[in-house]
Amino acid sequence: MNAPFTVPRTVSIGGMGKTRRLRIGGAADVSVQTMWKEGIACASADADALFSVRARIEELEKLGCDILRFAVPDRESADNLIRIADEVSMPLVADIHFDYKLALRCLDGNVAKIRINPGNIGSRERIQAVAEKAADRGAAIRIGVNAGSLPLDLRKQVAAGTMSRAEALAETAFRETELLEELDFHNVVVSMKASSVAETIEANEAFARRFDYPLHIGVTEAGPLIGGIVKSTLAFSRLLGEGIGSTIRVSLSSSMIDEVIAGGEILKETGKRSGGVRIVSCPRCGRNGFDVHGFVDRWQSELLSRRQDITVAVMGCVVNGPGEAQHADIGITGAGDTVIIFRKGEKVRTVSAEGADAAFREELEKL
Ligand code: SF4
Repeated sequence: MNAPFTVPRTVSIGGMGKTRRLRIGGAADVSVQTMWKEGIACASADADALFSVRARIEELEKLGCDILRFAVPDRESADNLIRIADEVSMPLVADIHFDYKLALRCLDGNVAKIRINPGNIGSRERIQAVAEKAADRGAAIRIGVNAGSLPLDLRKQVAAGTMSRAEALAETAFRETELLEELDFHNVVVSMKASSVAETIEANEAFARRFDYPLHIGVTEAGPLIGGIVKSTLAFSRLLGEGIGSTIRVSLSSSMIDEVIAGGEILKETGKRSGGVRIVSCPRCGRNGFDVHGFVDRWQSELLSRRQDITVAVMGCVVNGPGEAQHADIGITGAGDTVIIFRKGEKVRTVSAEGADAAFREELEKL
């Protein structure tokens, strides 16, 4: 019989400088992460660029992003990440491959967590140097194991068919977790990511049977918007339902905003995140008298950024529109040549399609 899954211990990140303290694991809410999609070697070279980066991070935060990771491939990026971390309250993570000295440099600043890839970071001494400085700074370390960069001996076993890729992912995480424990470093989060849903699930389940460090879960290289959301939803639904996964990232060949929105929606639908705006909208068909798609495109980000616990219905015509709209806190539906707005079940406005956005905003502000 398999061992039961452990309950994750609590790991704390942030709390230095302006950075908000965030708990991961334990009784804490499941966090949503995304990763900055551009290089930051020049991102904060001047005040305007830094202002723009800060504004984009604040937009992600409003949409429900809790943690943001940056690739740090060189010294200039490390220096700029330190500058960015001084400007924002969101806990930032430095993603380090190959060069442990970049991790040490990031730890000179208010970087909340260092993600290292054990498959390429090098010797025990290098990991020890990072762990010692992280402990001094109060930063966490994420052991980020990826199916594409497993240690050589395990790659050989996978190639020889004596070990599955999921077993190799988990074994890599076991080794690195044990190494950090030997170094007396315990502020650890672990991830094991594969592009296969089944391998991702199997590796995370194996880890959760053995260690109680919180897991950051994700299907890596999951693909474009639709395919990536499907794969991530399948994996997260299973793992979160088992109590596995303290932070999530929906990894998409799409924008950070899409990743954050997808992550938030998965948490809402799996019961791991409560409150916020729930959008009900129809798929639209030939009966529509109102451009549901266009309206949702225009309003989605703003609605999901609002700190209100409400349901918004956006419907194309009178077949299902009034019914759905009446059950929402605010509803808008096409009705022939006009658009009807409902608030708390009451029909409050009938306007033209051109006036729909302005009227909707006025009624929304009354909630
Ligand atoms: S609400 Fe109307 S427009 Fe929307 S899918 Fe249903 S029938 Fe079609």
